[in-house]
Amino acid sequence: MMTRRQALKTTALASAVCAAAATLRTASAQPAAAPPASGPAGPFTLPPLAYSHDALEPHIDAATMQIHHDKHHAAYVSNLNKAVAEFPELGKQRVEDLVKNLNAAPESTRTAIRNQGGGHYNHTLFWQMMKKGGGGQPSGELLKGIEKRFGSFAAFKDQLTKAALGQFGSGWAWLVLDENKQLAVEPTANQDSPISQNKQPLLGVDVWEHAYYLKYQNRRPDYVAAFFQVIDWDFVIERYRRALR
Ligand code: MN
Repeated sequence: MMTRRQALKTTALASAVCAAAATLRTASAQPAAAPPASGPAGPFTLPPLAYSHDALEPHIDAATMQIHHDKHHAAYVSNLNKAVAEFPELGKQRVEDLVKNLNAAPESTRTAIRNQGGGHYNHTLFWQMMKKGGGGQPSGELLKGIEKRFGSFAAFKDQLTKAALGQFGSGWAWLVLDENKQLAVEPTANQDSPISQNKQPLLGVDVWEHAYYLKYQNRRPDYVAAFFQVIDWDFVIERYRRALR
């Protein structure tokens, strides 16, 4: 026999599951990456995901991916377009270069480029840093570099995890190649990107609550552990090779 408390719990859980399913149905009924109704359509555009919303299940859930990419990332792109609307020369640059050279932007739009351009650039990388069937360890030169710098892959994983969990509020934790071509782990706040400090982001984990709250709620450690299960190390290795040149 179910106690009253158990019954209430079961009912609440069932309602939550129904609500989540309804959200998913609504989401899939809409065209992917629909641009917001207002604001300029360019020059920056939302790059499509290279995989389906549910490709990273069960580690990163489909509903989170749908909202994160199609809504949050889309909003960074849309707001970046608004920020550069008065400055056609900025719109001709790559977002990477805008974020790298923040001080070159007119002062009136610099903060918007830092936040919205940073959001667009960071997320564009983030989607490519994950894949279905990812995880494990890198190989070759990157593994050697990690072992040399951090002692072992496990020690690196521990450091990146600590940076991700230690970031107070919204931000990211990164593996970067710094200005001296040394591997380093560091957090950034908000949408700040290592590239603005002349560092090449190789791997980054988004620790904004929008990246994990639907599935993991307050359990950021579980989300960060799940992120390690979907890392596309081939992509990270390629970035490492290019950054070393
Ligand atoms: Mn995000």
